[in-house]
Amino acid sequence: MDQQQLELMWAYQQEDMKADRIANEIRRSPTRQKLEKSRDFIMEQQKLYKQIDEQIAVLADRKDAIHDAIARCEEQLNALAAKVKANPPEDAESARALLQEVSKVRDTIASYEQEMSRIAKDFENSDRKQRSLRLEAAKAKQSFDQLKVVYEKESKEKKAMLDAQRAIAEEKAKSVARELMDEYLAIKKHIAPPMARLLGDQCSGCNTAQPSALLRKIKSGTVLVECETCGRMIIQ
Ligand SMILES: [Zn+2]
Repeated sequence: MDQQQLELMWAYQQEDMKADRIANEIRRSPTRQKLEKSRDFIMEQQKLYKQIDEQIAVLADRKDAIHDAIARCEEQLNALAAKVKANPPEDAESARALLQEVSKVRDTIASYEQEMSRIAKDFENSDRKQRSLRLEAAKAKQSFDQLKVVYEKESKEKKAMLDAQRAIAEEKAKSVARELMDEYLAIKKHIAPPMARLLGDQCSGCNTAQPSALLRKIKSGTVLVECETCGRMIIQ
């Protein structure tokens, strides 16, 4: 390996970093962020809508159960009425006991009916909430679609820039030795840019002074030297 190979690697890094900056701009574009926010909002609304659906299903089950319970209470009342008809109470005490039994069943029915009207109100509320969610969802979808058009136009231009820059970098990559490129890519997984110039006796990536043994190696330009602190390849 010689200094020239390292310089070719360096030249590639310049173009590679330019391409990465464009890619970052695309990722961090305010339009894209708004678009993602809008998408998250729509998904959140859909989740809420589903939750209300589940609550409605629970209410419907409860309504059916109460309906059955009221029917059973009415059967009880009918049975009591039939009993009275067949065997009218013979004294005041048994008449009172019978009336007590009847009023207990009626109280139960009344409390079921109260619950029924609460359920009806809950149904109404759920329905109102779902209607307003549908309205909001429609509005959110509209603004999402508008943003998407803007974003697609914007990103099409940026993507063309990125492709052009990647092509420039690829051209430079052709003159870089395979082993150097492999090393560069391995380091890039941990830190970018993966190469740093030596500034005085410091790695310019992390500003750490390099030991003299390493300095000699770096200055020879014939071996690959990595900074012990940040792991970057150091080039003089
Ligand atoms: Zn360093």
